[in-house]
Amino acid sequence: MGKVTGFMDYERRDPGYRPVDARVRDYRAVELQLSEAEVVEQAARCMDCGTPFCHGCGCPLLNVIPEFNDHVYHGRWKEALEILLATNNFPEFTGRICPALCEGACVLGINKDPVTIRQIELAIIEKAFECGYMEPRPPKIRFDQQVAVIGSGPAGLAVADTLNHAGYKVVVYDGAAQPGGILRYGIPEFKLEKSVVDRRIRLMEAEGVVFENGVKVGEDISYRYLRSRFDAVCLSGGAREPRDLKVPGRDLKGVHFAMELLVQQNKRLGGESVDPAGEIHAGGKNVVIIGGGDTGADCLGTSLRQGARQVVQMEILPEPPPQRAASTPWPMWPLQLRVSSSHKEGGVRRWSVATREITGEQGVVKSLRAVEVEWIAPAQGGRPVMREKPGTEFIVEADLVLLAMGFSGPGRNKIVEDLKIRTEPSGTIWRDGRNMTSMPGIFVAGDMSMGASLVVRAITDGRNAAVGVAAYLEDQRRQKKE
Ligand SMILES: Cc1cc2nc3c(=O)[nH]c(=O)nc-3n(C[C@H](O)[C@H](O)[C@H](O)COP(=O)(O)OP(=O)(O)OC[C@H]3O[C@@H](n4cnc5c(N)ncnc54)[C@H](O)[C@@H]3O)c2cc1C
Ligand code: SF4
Repeated sequence: MGKVTGFMDYERRDPGYRPVDARVRDYRAVELQLSEAEVVEQAARCMDCGTPFCHGCGCPLLNVIPEFNDHVYHGRWKEALEILLATNNFPEFTGRICPALCEGACVLGINKDPVTIRQIELAIIEKAFECGYMEPRPPKIRFDQQVAVIGSGPAGLAVADTLNHAGYKVVVYDGAAQPGGILRYGIPEFKLEKSVVDRRIRLMEAEGVVFENGVKVGEDISYRYLRSRFDAVCLSGGAREPRDLKVPGRDLKGVHFAMELLVQQNKRLGGESVDPAGEIHAGGKNVVIIGGGDTGADCLGTSLRQGARQVVQMEILPEPPPQRAASTPWPMWPLQLRVSSSHKEGGVRRWSVATREITGEQGVVKSLRAVEVEWIAPAQGGRPVMREKPGTEFIVEADLVLLAMGFSGPGRNKIVEDLKIRTEPSGTIWRDGRNMTSMPGIFVAGDMSMGASLVVRAITDGRNAAVGVAAYLEDQRRQKKE
């Protein structure tokens, strides 16, 4: 434990964001970083409590948080790095965009502000890159066996990185022009600069991972080709089938899924071309975002940067309480109001509203008709039931409507269909305890099997799938010898 009285001596300190008027004029990262001295002080707040819930109950990766906090407090950054990299392949991603599930479970959080674990994690990895500790570390032994990973989001990258370090040859295929999945094409630059993704891809390449982009598996190359070349395959194609809004006017011009706007903006910033005929841009428009979650918030920040006249973000559920709700006591992940950097930049948030109709003129969206709703808890218990509030209908002007209501699953996938791979009723891919699908030698990782989730969970699942693949390949080697 760093400093015995640290949690009493120091208050939590967050780095904060760049000033709003400056940051909405560019797409650069909005969040600042703590100075080294501040990080050391924050690490001193860790109490090294007997049962570190942050580690066992909060962080899906089981990051060994008290230990790296202690090393940081004593200035032993290299040791802190080793502990961090033992459980997390990509702390530079989670250190920037993880909601910090660990902090919701931090024991100090019972009656004080939790330790700034995410910021400490980020400081450790960024210092490592700065000091040249993140040199390529290719494996000392190489097996002949090769693995194809399909999809280069955080899950696919974690599978590839883990198997490569274990000595397997790995090729990562992705239909997109650049690797990274949602890290590159969904999450806006102002939350995660793509230079951070590029830096990691370059490191993985230097360590031996091969990336083949612009290759849609199932269309550009067949499973038969993959099977002839590879000893195992891991599917990590994500879960990007968006939930649709079934109301009159859905087909009007100007109504789009959130990801369409976000992908286009990331492509523009990345120097990729966007078809002018299908261009979606919020500049000068009244924007309505349907869906109050993180994807909606990303659309809000993007719309403001594109120069929207007005942005309204609407959510059908009630506004959560400002503090942890009684229904999610510590150490559970707290249900509470989340205010993202984008919400601090502008726009209007409306809660408990349902869209009745999208209206337009000459086929183009002009407004949205909505109504306030209330959620009634049934007397006999069970889930609250939604009821429209009579006389509360209202109209919102809209030139651009963005549907950000989450994702229903992986959607159609040619390999899964052709090979009749077993799926769950939700559409996600079934897998056994080793992450193997119903087809021997084909594994699955990330959102494709979990349903839309978080980067930290995708990395965790990718690591678990890699363990399953490695065990399978080891069996194959053993069988060959016998
Ligand atoms: C807008 C948005 C913002 C988000 N923000 C956050 C955040 O701030 N923090 C957080 O923790 N989580 C966030 N998430 C969730 C997180 O990004 C996902 O849970 C995570 O990316 C899932 O990783 P994955 O590797 O399973 O899939 P993905 O990242 O979706 O990657 C799948 C990849 O597979 C490729 N692919 C699919 N099919 C094929 C095929 N047949 N052939 C070749 N390639 C194929 C796709 O092109 C894609 O690159 C966000 C999600 C969205 C949509
Ligand atoms: S990955 Fe997320 S949950 Fe885990 S320690 Fe880092 S910030 Fe916390």
